[in-house]
Amino acid sequence: MGLMRSMLLVASQNKWLRERASHYRFVRRTVSRFMPGETLDDALAAAQTLQKKKIGTVFTHLGENVADRSEALQVTQHYLEVLDRIRQAGLHTEVSVKLTQLGLDLSSDFCLDNLKAIIERAEKTSTVWVDMEASNYVDATLEIYRRALKAYLNTGLCLQAYLYRTKDDLAQLFSLCPSIRLVKGAYNEPLQLAYPRKQDVDEKFFALAQEMLRAKKQGRCLRAAFATHDVALIRRLYEFARAEGFSQADFEVQMLYGIQRGEQERLAREGCTSIVLVAYGSYWYPWFVRRLAERPANLWFMLRNVFAS
Ligand SMILES: Cc1cc2nc3c(=O)[nH]c(=O)nc-3n(C[C@H](O)[C@H](O)[C@H](O)COP(=O)(O)OP(=O)(O)OC[C@H]3O[C@@H](n4cnc5c(N)ncnc54)[C@H](O)[C@@H]3O)c2cc1C
Repeated sequence: MGLMRSMLLVASQNKWLRERASHYRFVRRTVSRFMPGETLDDALAAAQTLQKKKIGTVFTHLGENVADRSEALQVTQHYLEVLDRIRQAGLHTEVSVKLTQLGLDLSSDFCLDNLKAIIERAEKTSTVWVDMEASNYVDATLEIYRRALKAYLNTGLCLQAYLYRTKDDLAQLFSLCPSIRLVKGAYNEPLQLAYPRKQDVDEKFFALAQEMLRAKKQGRCLRAAFATHDVALIRRLYEFARAEGFSQADFEVQMLYGIQRGEQERLAREGCTSIVLVAYGSYWYPWFVRRLAERPANLWFMLRNVFAS
């Protein structure tokens, strides 16, 4: 893993930097590349625009690790309102939640109740996605996901290709016919838990994605979504999916708002399922710095904004 990436991932957890970052115009300007705005209305407007281009959306309200129950309940309440607003607006938009925002650090049962309330409010045909956070949360997240999935089929989980354990986790989940969003992984993980070399992570992603498509063909995976901006990888997977007999619509790629827009539009035009994750909210610092870590060239983009301010 690159030194710059490690340093940025450490910085993403720094409270001192977090408190100062939002005061700088050049930082806010750079953030706006990845977020349509801080409010739900901003996210809804972005989703309307994307829907006209046949691109679906997933909303995530930024935040992680709430400190008390009332905060977790507020987040849950917010998502219930989001689902109502999505329905009123006639949008094909799903939501993706972080369990630490729903109270995972406080109690698993409490967190599961909050997740269930959100799933119950969602349309039955709309998946409620659960993000995967740092590796110390994987066991707890899997446990809650399994319990939720047994009650509600429309629950999806994010799995990270960089973790050695993901192959086994995936194999075990197939018995429950899950919906999986596969990502490379965005946290700073130790060598004992995660592949350090990007090339290995890319290959692992491809192998896991193939397993997901095979499982989908056998009816053991409800939704197989590939969340990556890696165009070469998407092409390889697309070819594999077509050779396995999947239609374009069955090939689902999810990307982040503002990244690889041309590719998002190309996939949608060609009839693939193209989905964009729209993040919004005022607690954007750690999320934003993880985006910088994924592509240190974004730092140059931010520096250019220093001079543009
Ligand atoms: C929909 C979605 C949901 C996600 N959910 C989670 C989650 O729950 N848990 C988790 O750990 N991670 C999550 N991630 C992040 C993921 O783990 C990766 O960190 C991120 O997607 C970057 O990896 P990549 O697959 O795009 O490939 P990379 O190999 O990193 O990038 C490939 C190319 O994409 C472009 N690119 C990638 N990232 C950026 C960027 N930040 N800015 C500009 N260009 C970029 C560049 O052109 C780069 O060359 C999610 C990602 C997406 C798209």
